[in-house]
Amino acid sequence: MRLFKKRPYITLQKSKSENGPNVPDGMFEKCPSCKTPIYVKALGIERVCPKCHYAFRIRAQERLLITVDKESFLEWDEAVQTGNPLDFPDYETKITDAQIKSGLREAVVTGQANILDHEVAIGIMDSHYIMGSMGQAVGEKITLLFEKATEKDLPVVLFTASGGARMHEGIMSLMQMAKTSAAIKRHSDKGLFYLTVITDPTTGGVTASFAMQGDIILAEPGAMIGFAGKRVIEQTIKENLPDDFQLAETVLRNGFVDSIIERSELRKTIGQLLSMHSYIH
Ligand SMILES: [Zn+2]
Repeated sequence: MRLFKKRPYITLQKSKSENGPNVPDGMFEKCPSCKTPIYVKALGIERVCPKCHYAFRIRAQERLLITVDKESFLEWDEAVQTGNPLDFPDYETKITDAQIKSGLREAVVTGQANILDHEVAIGIMDSHYIMGSMGQAVGEKITLLFEKATEKDLPVVLFTASGGARMHEGIMSLMQMAKTSAAIKRHSDKGLFYLTVITDPTTGGVTASFAMQGDIILAEPGAMIGFAGKRVIEQTIKENLPDDFQLAETVLRNGFVDSIIERSELRKTIGQLLSMHSYIH
């Protein structure tokens, strides 16, 4: 019976006493893929699990640092911001919170940069901003990215990360799928190269539009890539889905991505693809 009695040491272990030997917050992070606790410093600047190579979700600013040539980034359309077209309750507060949390005005950063001396138009989505969801502002910035790239004869490199269309903007969000696709078609018609890099997670309306329209589609290891979420599908079809469902590795086997590239190799690979697709007008 003593087994079930509350023991003092349990409460002691639970409490974060200032006298106790505490592990400082943020020293270890659990890998979302293999569930191993990883010493944060072991993740390195690229933030990759040393055990399973899962590429952790990173911020747009971090992605820029490991991708583009030093001090080559020039931001475009940073002032584009969303409104509240449907008067969705508390949406403005949510936007303000997301801006503070992410340090970004919207869920995508766009601009011009050099990658291993190749000039590119670049877009980076950030899942830290309302799950990288696509509303009017994201759609507008991506459309402008392709329009400017078309005008300047630049290839586009786009890192996707998104929970899909932003429900707070309803149909206005869904319309961005068609709008971005039309801009991509005009870029493509001019013979310009478009490279997609799918990062964790890329789902919904973003998968169903520009994430899957690249001439070459790369993905990071362990990235979740899908349309509807796994739980939604399980509840609909009333069946359990396999563990590797919607993982980049499964999607590659099914032919929807061209290659999975380790984060440490991405910059070099992008540089190689850009040089293969460079041309003289
Ligand atoms: Zn791992």
